[in-house]
Amino acid sequence: MATARRMCTRCVRPQTVCVCPALPSGGKITVTTKVIVISHPCEKKKQTIGTVPLIDLCLTNFELVPLPADPADRNNHLKGSLANFPSIQRALNDKGTVLLFPGPSSVPIEEVLLPAGGDEQRALLVVDGTWRQAQKIMREDCIQQAIETQAVTVARLTTAQSSAYQFRREPRATFISTLEAVANALRVLEGNHAGDQAAAALEDAFRFMVDATVSRKQLKVLQTAARLSGQELESSLWAFARLQLVPTADVRTALLMRAEDIRDSLTTGQFVNVLWCLARLGLALPAWMCITLCGWVVDQK
Ligand SMILES: [Zn+2]
Repeated sequence: MATARRMCTRCVRPQTVCVCPALPSGGKITVTTKVIVISHPCEKKKQTIGTVPLIDLCLTNFELVPLPADPADRNNHLKGSLANFPSIQRALNDKGTVLLFPGPSSVPIEEVLLPAGGDEQRALLVVDGTWRQAQKIMREDCIQQAIETQAVTVARLTTAQSSAYQFRREPRATFISTLEAVANALRVLEGNHAGDQAAAALEDAFRFMVDATVSRKQLKVLQTAARLSGQELESSLWAFARLQLVPTADVRTALLMRAEDIRDSLTTGQFVNVLWCLARLGLALPAWMCITLCGWVVDQK
């Protein structure tokens, strides 16, 4: 019988990828800005690799608004569901609210004015999902209305570096995770030590999570490499190549040794895919693969 994965009770992640050691040592950080993340129903499934739970572990002034899925609607249309959340309604009626979203009607976040009252609380609304899912959220009536009447300021990040997210590729290199977007926005909007402190805490926890998850993935491949079938070997390498995540030297050696062991049972397609993955990762071909390739060329003549 399979043993259940042991979970950490604080960060609610499997103990093997627990992020608690990287959380702020003095407890959650308080910033003036209230961060509200509106999450598409499909994001619910991504608990372990999603970055939003980390924001909740780092900041006191945080609220997650998970939009409910309609099981009858396979396209996950959201029409109207946002209007049921009082905190969203409040934020959309507050002039100080910043809605983070790139687009023609957005202003660079550095140009967002400070609230009139100085340290008055304002909300930062961030949408969480793929680009298409985020656009669906943005098309909700209450958001469109708030944008059209300029009830809120739509702002975009201008200093976004490429994402440190190694295992969940964003559709474009300039896209960053929700957590990275929140960290960058807080750094600008707070404009003080608390903003820098919150951004640094978020980024530290995030980097720790990425590193822990990546080393866990590498370890898993290393432990099973000697038993992989041709098809499993091919898909392991595909996973690395797709994420452009270079396997560690140990993992590389184990995978290539296994490929050599089972080379007679590899189909031509599997062999070619292994070659393609190695090339994509910028890795040298082992001698036996070069010899096999040369053999093919000679056969063609
Ligand atoms: Zn933990």
